[in-house]
Amino acid sequence: MIANYHTHTCRCGHAEGTEREYVERALEAGLQILGFSDHTPQDYFDSTPRNRPIRMMPEELPDYAASVRSLREEYRGRIEILLGVEAEYYPRYFPRLLEMLRENGVEYMILGQHFLGNEVGEPYAGRPTLDRKLLERYAAQTAEAMETGLFTYFAHPDLIHYIGSKKTYEQEMRKLCRKARETNTPLELNLLGVREKRQYPHLAFWQIAAEEGNDVVLGCDAHRPQDAADPGSEAWAATLIERLGLHMLETVPIRRLSKDI
Ligand SMILES: [Zn+2]
Ligand SMILES: [Zn+2]
Repeated sequence: MIANYHTHTCRCGHAEGTEREYVERALEAGLQILGFSDHTPQDYFDSTPRNRPIRMMPEELPDYAASVRSLREEYRGRIEILLGVEAEYYPRYFPRLLEMLRENGVEYMILGQHFLGNEVGEPYAGRPTLDRKLLERYAAQTAEAMETGLFTYFAHPDLIHYIGSKKTYEQEMRKLCRKARETNTPLELNLLGVREKRQYPHLAFWQIAAEEGNDVVLGCDAHRPQDAADPGSEAWAATLIERLGLHMLETVPIRRLSKDI
């Protein structure tokens, strides 16, 4: 790997270490690009906010941005540091989210759809389910997200944990993969899932992605500095990619939200 665009900070409430430690680890492992993409704050208007321990508070965003910007200056010429967020696509809050990210000079978003609808009252998408409706909603909602053209890539698209019929899974995930191709959205093979032996990367999903010719990118999804680069999981993923004949990208084009960093 020469680039990792998926890195968290302690502000989300479930990651550890300082930003500098993540940068040092990335440098040591020979990365050329390190993107910070902490869980984006959500500025709710009309419902109970569900922030920590899932994500930073809105008032922490300026400090997050300042910290990443300052490291970017300090390490200029040695490693390229990008300021991003991992964002959910919640239609009700999306316009306000974009406004808040742009106000703070956030450069890019990766899509991490952990909940459906607008989150409140909705289940975690990674919980095992036999409910076909949840799978269909996940595919439809993330398709809408990709259609905005604003997400640089789609993180752990195989987070949805549908354990019902294989045929239904294939049908819905094929729609998702086709939408990703149509919108030029690379799909992330998530190395946190590899490290923690989660339900993703899900083999059936990546078989479909290979058939559909999707672009694939590796993401460390680091919640600890030592995971800002992860050669062990990377080797495992590389084998899978080669075996399935997936098309891997070493770097991805950033879909910029703001220019003024
Ligand atoms: Zn996280
Ligand atoms: Zn993440």
